[in-house]
Amino acid sequence: MRKIGLLTQILIAFVLAIIVGVIVGPSIEVVKPLGDLFLRLIKFIIVPLVLASLVIGIAGTGDIKRIGRMGGITFAYYLITTAIAVIIGLILANIFKPGSGLNLTISEEAAEPKEVPGVIDTLLNIIPTNPIQSMVDANMLQIIFFALFLGVAITLVGDRAKPVYDFFDGLAEIMYKITHIVMKVAPIGIFGLIAPVVGQYGASVLLPLIKLILVVYIGCILHALIVYSSSVKFLANYSPVKFFKGILPASLVAFSSSSSSATLPITIQNTEENLGVSKKVSSFVLPLGATINMDGTALYQGVCVLFIAQFLGVDLSFTQQLIIVLTATLASIGTAGVPGAGLIMLTMVITAVGLPLEALALVAGVDRVLDMIRTSINVTGDASAAVVVQAFEISKERNPRDDSLSNM
Ligand code: ASP
Repeated sequence: MRKIGLLTQILIAFVLAIIVGVIVGPSIEVVKPLGDLFLRLIKFIIVPLVLASLVIGIAGTGDIKRIGRMGGITFAYYLITTAIAVIIGLILANIFKPGSGLNLTISEEAAEPKEVPGVIDTLLNIIPTNPIQSMVDANMLQIIFFALFLGVAITLVGDRAKPVYDFFDGLAEIMYKITHIVMKVAPIGIFGLIAPVVGQYGASVLLPLIKLILVVYIGCILHALIVYSSSVKFLANYSPVKFFKGILPASLVAFSSSSSSATLPITIQNTEENLGVSKKVSSFVLPLGATINMDGTALYQGVCVLFIAQFLGVDLSFTQQLIIVLTATLASIGTAGVPGAGLIMLTMVITAVGLPLEALALVAGVDRVLDMIRTSINVTGDASAAVVVQAFEISKERNPRDDSLSNM
């Protein structure tokens, strides 16, 4: 009952925030500290939660082969669903042509193009040189890397490492408890996050780009309905309705905060408690997803590039659109789970097809509104992966076949 109560409260806060935002306008900005308060409360949970739950998840089995297999399935799922997201975005943008016939001027204050690090550097950077620094910086991939090694080594050491295992076990439980407590103020936080955004964006800002906004929103919703429904249904034999209902609180927090990283504690909580995914799977799949899996971002990038090309009257060939699928998939992997990161990485996709970077300013004005839906989809996509990977794990446990999981 209490769970239902909280979800209803969150939904009420959400609707109320939109109504109050529209009525009061920009001065509703005064409630922003309530949103910031909630965001800070969930953010402080992330690092200890991910570290502790992943360490105990791995040390609990000490099974590196299993982690490797889980990693393979997770990566494949993330890559495939992201590429599909871009394709859906491109199809919709080709049909609805949101950039054609617009009467806009490109302002001078284009977003600064960002230096995108190379592939080798990015891969090397997953290995922390100082794990404490990784935690200070909340560098999720480095924390995952460290936790994997800690978990395996705890098992290899055996009895003498037991106090460390118990410590992380206790810490993980404590962080789950804190997440529960913090979720009680989620309705207030969501109100404080949504109302200022609604109040700030008047019709004059949104209307000229309404077609773009609609295409991104419709694309994201279609992606969730088609791709996530069918993957949880057919790959995990899980009810899509139950799935969407279970992950709704996290999706709404993602929508309000525009940050998959900040939403992570709630994504983990929803996935475990509402969707029944084990700690082992969720503590591996979700932090990874919050860092590299961004279906909504990829879809948005696909739509935006076409939008810009249409606005400038540039025809993009089929090959160029294939390049968009490739670069938007990569760019979304490189996008951090923080507000506005997708816009910065969009520069990579724009440059890949030879469009001018100044055009970024066209979409920058409404980025927050687009960020909300894409983040919500990013988080929902992570949760769908957790459900699918969990199903694979269970079927593997039932039919271990010959590869008797090597116990370390
Ligand atoms: N805000 C998004 C996220 O946190 C990333 C983006 O800007 O696309 O998932």
